[in-house]
Amino acid sequence: MLRIGCHLSSSKGYLAMGETAKSIGANTFQFFTRNPRGGAAKQIDPDDISAFLDFSKENDIGPILAHAPYTLNAAAKEPRIREFALITMQDDMKRLEQTPGNLYNFHPGSHVGQGTELGIELIVDILNQIISPEQSTTILLETMAGKGSEIGGSFEEISRIISRTEHSDKLGVCLDTCHVFDGGYDIKGNLESVLSEFDRVIGLSRLHAIHLNDSLHGFESHKDRHAKIGEGFLGLETFAAVINHPSLRELPFYLETPNELDGYEKEIALLKSVYNS
Ligand code: FE
Ligand code: FE
Ligand code: ZN
Repeated sequence: MLRIGCHLSSSKGYLAMGETAKSIGANTFQFFTRNPRGGAAKQIDPDDISAFLDFSKENDIGPILAHAPYTLNAAAKEPRIREFALITMQDDMKRLEQTPGNLYNFHPGSHVGQGTELGIELIVDILNQIISPEQSTTILLETMAGKGSEIGGSFEEISRIISRTEHSDKLGVCLDTCHVFDGGYDIKGNLESVLSEFDRVIGLSRLHAIHLNDSLHGFESHKDRHAKIGEGFLGLETFAAVINHPSLRELPFYLETPNELDGYEKEIALLKSVYNS
């Protein structure tokens, strides 16, 4: 069965997200843990959590993917900005244990001119402070488009972060189709070789989730602009190949395309129609 959902607003709580997902034909979803620009998170309501846990069990919803605010930068130059990333991610880790066994995705960071090596060191330093060996959440590093000084635009950089982190059994990867294509991995022309490279450099067992986004710009453009499924440079055939690939087909897929709910509902139906059951 295709495991698919989209990015949803978390403003009305967990149960509302679960119900919304179900209403558009999804069986999972992604959400921001707080305002995407950072800042204080809404208080978690224990009644909402327990209602959601019941609902998701009854309706087979999940695994859910919590996305860290995209403005966090664990590799920042200013200590104050790194401290903010640390505190926010620590708080997210604590909150996510209320919905145990799910996924947390973050953008590794931008080294802002300090160089990739130092940037990776700073990211590893924060990961080592936020991961506890008891946690049930798996933290995913998102593959990036390599825009500006972004770290994580190559599989090698992601692999270096994972191998240097202490409790690396808590780490995995979320592959974003727009980002990798933008970053120079030709999943349209040669999905097979990209996946074997991923397997060689990182290991396919580390791959826990896929962001399904078409790309508004062409191969290796490093622009990171998402397009609707089938309306960008990747095209529907690429997505059909991705969701049916033997190494990927059991993973959860999350849409982050420029859509409102009705658009997501259509894309989910479209992808289901090309999924070989
Ligand atoms: Fe992201
Ligand atoms: Fe993404
Ligand atoms: Zn993106």
